[in-house]
This record gives sequence, C-alpha cells and structure tokens, in this order.
Amino acid sequence: MTSSTRPAFSLEFFPPRDAAAQARLVDGARQMSVINPHYVSVTFGAGGTTREGTLDTVRTMRGMGWDAAPHLSCIGSSREDLRALLQTYRDEGVRRIVALRGDMPSGMGIESAGALRHASDLVELIRAETGDWFHIEVAAYPEMHPQASGPEKDLQHFVQKVRAGANSAITQYFFNADAYFDFVDRVQSQGIDIPIIPGIMPITNYTQLMRFSEMCGAEVPRWVRLRLAEMGDDRESIRAFGTEVVTDLCQTLLDNDVPGLHFYTLNNAEATLAIWKGLSN
Ligand code: FAD
Repeated sequence: MTSSTRPAFSLEFFPPRDAAAQARLVDGARQMSVINPHYVSVTFGAGGTTREGTLDTVRTMRGMGWDAAPHLSCIGSSREDLRALLQTYRDEGVRRIVALRGDMPSGMGIESAGALRHASDLVELIRAETGDWFHIEVAAYPEMHPQASGPEKDLQHFVQKVRAGANSAITQYFFNADAYFDFVDRVQSQGIDIPIIPGIMPITNYTQLMRFSEMCGAEVPRWVRLRLAEMGDDRESIRAFGTEVVTDLCQTLLDNDVPGLHFYTLNNAEATLAIWKGLSN
C-alpha cells in the first residue's frame, strides 16, 4: 500500500476524572503512538459536564505532538457559549472539531435544549463564525440513529449536515460491515463523496457492550452475544474472542478500501493495540 492510499487511523479518548486516570491516559496514549494516528479526538459530556476536561485533554494531546480534535455538542448550550468555546479552540490553534448534537442529560426536558437542536445547526454556526478555520467531522449512523423515524429520513438529516459544511464523518460503531457499505452507497447516491470513517468499538466487557449498544442503537450480532454471554466472568476469554471479532471486522473494512478507522479506545490502550497489531495494513 502506498503512503497516499494508506488508511488514516484516529483514536478517541474521554477526559480523565482524576490525576491517577490522567496519568494512565498519558501512559496509554504513549503506547498507542505506534499507531501513528492521523489525529486524536476528545469527547465532550452532554450538558457541559466535561467542558474543561475536554479542553485540558486536548491540550495534553497537543502537547504530545498530536493533532487533537475536541468534540463539541450543541444541545443545552447557548449560541454565546458555543461562540466563546470556538474562540477558545481557535486561540489554542485547534484546526479540527467533531460537531455533534449530543444527548440531553437524563431528567432534562426538550425545553432546555437551547437554540441549536440538530448537529446541522452547529455545523452552520461553526461555518458562519469561523469560515474554513476548522475541519469539521460529524457523526454517521450506518444502522440508523435510534431516535430517527426511519433510515431514509436519517440519511436526509446526514446529508443536511454535510451540505451545512462538514468535511468528513465518523460512524457510530457497528459489527456488520454490510451496514456500513450500504450506508456509504446511499450517501454517495445523494452526490456526496466525503470520507466516512468507520468507528470501531473494541469488545472487552459484555455488560458494558450491551448497555452501550442498547443506548446507541448498535446491533450486536446474535452469535457474538451468545458466545460472550456464555463466557460469564471469564475476562480473558472475552478479550480474546472480542479481539478476534473486531480485528476480522477491521480487516474486512481495510480490504475494501475504507478511508480510515476511528478507534473508540475508552482510554484502554491494550484493547485497541491488540486489534491494531492483528491487522495487515
Ligand atoms: P444529529 O445529526 O442532530 O441527529 C440526531 C437525530 O436527529 C437523528 O435521529 C436525526 O435523524 C435527527 N435530525 C437531525 N436533523 C434533523 C432535523 N432537521 N429535523 C428533524 N430531525 C433531525 N455525544 C456526546 O454527548 N459527547 C460526545 O463527545 C459524543 N461523541 C460522539 C462521537 C461519535 C463519532 C458519534 C457517532 C457519537 C457521539 N456522541 C457524543 C453521541 C451523539 O451526541 C448522539 O448520538 C446524539 O444522539 C446525536 O448526535 P448527532 O450529532 O448525530 O445528531
């Protein structure tokens, strides 16, 4: 594979909660530097809960020499808050941003949603305020966003985000490569040709995987679910089987020329590295 066609790997982290977690994050990030990520991204808690954490972690990652993209969600924020945050990131020299709607914190009603209710509103605001300063990533859902009324409507909402100015997209995680390829075909049939990078979720914990998947609408195939359930508390077996399943998925995607892979590392270097080491790329 030539360097110009090499897939771009990216890594996602969440802001650590305390000093010990921060030290583990930096240590894990150092280990993952063998992946030579194109960029790393840092999540942003809905309702502004980790606003400072995101900025601090972006600074840490930039200090390690990496291009770091903060996630920015608009729900529950005012235009003024978002403008101020965009200015902060500009002042830091950040050039890439992941623009999201976010989810309302539980217990908060839609009346607190704020002025911007869809990610397309945020993309519009970013372009209006900052022109072409930021490379904007948005989220994509090969298996449909769980709140969408149907796949076609969800596709049109995705198209709207791209037309508002998104440069590329990262998908929700999935375990069925056909869902991704079908989504990319449907996007391209709309005349849109931006890179759509598969989001990859390592499997390390059955309960956590089922909880996340229930919330975000990702389908865990029956055979994978049954195998994991049978392994009970045997963490070694779960890790070994999870690595095999996800590595096979990544290899299928790479063999079909995906533009890159975005790893949801969950700040766990071991799980992502185990997959990456198994790939021939
Ligand atoms: P949107 O694109 O706005 O879509 C959300 C729903 O609204 C969809 O059902 C869509 O069909 C519908 N919709 C969109 N536009 C319209 C319209 N004009 N009219 C009617 N309906 C419409 N969450 C966080 O809180 N912090 C994070 O850091 C974070 N990082 C993420 C990273 C990735 C790669 C992904 C895939 C998700 C991430 N999320 C994060 C989760 C995300 O915030 C949720 O999935 C959220 O529910 C939707 O965000 P979105 O940007 O896709 O929203």
